[in-house]
Amino acid sequence: MAETTIDSTLSFEVFPPNSKVGVDKLTKTLDDLKELHPSFISVTCSNHNVDYEKNTIKLAKHVHNELNLPAMVHMPAAYVNKEQVSRILNELEELNINQVLALRGDIVDDHAPETDFKYASDLTRFIKSQKPNFEVSGACYPEVHPESTNRIDDIKHLKEKVDAGCDQLITQLFYDNEQFYRFQEECSIANINVPILAGIMPIINRKQALHVLENCAAHLPKKFLSILDKYKDNPIALRDAGLAYAIDQIVDLVTNDVSGIHIYTMNDSETAKHIYKNTSSFFKFED
Ligand code: FAD
Repeated sequence: MAETTIDSTLSFEVFPPNSKVGVDKLTKTLDDLKELHPSFISVTCSNHNVDYEKNTIKLAKHVHNELNLPAMVHMPAAYVNKEQVSRILNELEELNINQVLALRGDIVDDHAPETDFKYASDLTRFIKSQKPNFEVSGACYPEVHPESTNRIDDIKHLKEKVDAGCDQLITQLFYDNEQFYRFQEECSIANINVPILAGIMPIINRKQALHVLENCAAHLPKKFLSILDKYKDNPIALRDAGLAYAIDQIVDLVTNDVSGIHIYTMNDSETAKHIYKNTSSFFKFED
C-alpha cells in the first residue's frame, strides 16, 4: 500500500483573561497546551483596543518567554496607528517574536474608528515594509465575510491581502468541511497559494452553539442541528457529541491534506487535550 505522509500543523488560540480566576485558568491551560506540541499559540486582541499592549502583547511575551513556545500576536488594524505598530514590531523583534496575525478587527456598532489602516491588507503591507522577515498571517472566511457583498469580491480582496504580503491564512470557524474545500478551490483558482489553516472551535454546549449562530456567520449543518436537538436535555451527551464531531471534522481535513488545524480553545485545555489524544497521530510535530 502506498505510504501517505501527513504534515498538517496543530496550533491554538487563547485570549487575554480579564479576571483573577481567568488568569489562573489560563495559566493551567497554557501549561497543558505546551504538552500538545503546538506549532504556535496565537493571542487575540479585544475589539475595542482595551489595553492592547497590556493584554495581548503581554500575554504573547509570556507564551514566548516563560513557556518557550512560538507566539503569534493578533493585531487589529482598526485600533492601532503607524507609530504604535512600529514601536510594537521593534519590541517583538527584540524578543524574537516574529509572527503577527494582521486583522481589520471587529467594528463595534458599525462605527469604524479613524485609523491609519482601513483594511487588514493595509496593515499587512505596513508590517512587511517595516519587518520583511516577519511572518504575517491573515483571516479568511470559507462562508464569506459577513460585510462582503458577494463571494467573488471577498476572494478578490483576499487575494489583495495575500499580495500585500500575507504568508498564511487562518479561517473563521466552520462546521461543514465541504464549505472549506469549496473555499480552498476558489482560492486556488484566484491564485491564492499560501497555506490555509482551518479554524476549528468544538461546540460543547448549547450556549456556544447559539453564540456561533448569532455572531460568527457559520452555518451549522443538519447533522449538527440534530445533535443539538437530540441532546437538548443532556449536557454531558451534548459535550461528548460535540467533541466527537470536531474530531471527525479534523480527521477528515487532515486526511485531505489541510495545511494545519488551528483550535479556538476558549482558554479551556480539556477540549484541546481530548482532541489531541484522539487525533495526534495525524499531525506533524517539530522535535
Ligand atoms: P479585512 O481583510 O480587512 O476584510 C474586512 C472586509 O472588508 C471583508 O468583507 C473584505 O472583503 C472587505 N475588504 C477588504 N479589502 C477591501 C477593499 N480594498 N475594498 C473593499 N472591501 C474590502 N477580531 C478581533 O477584534 N480580535 C481578534 O483577535 C480577532 N481574531 C481573529 C482571528 C481569526 C482567525 C479570524 C478569522 C478573525 C478574527 N477576528 C478578530 C475577527 C476579524 O477582526 C473580523 O472578522 C473583521 O470583521 C474582519 O477582519 P479581517 O482581517 O478579515 O478584515
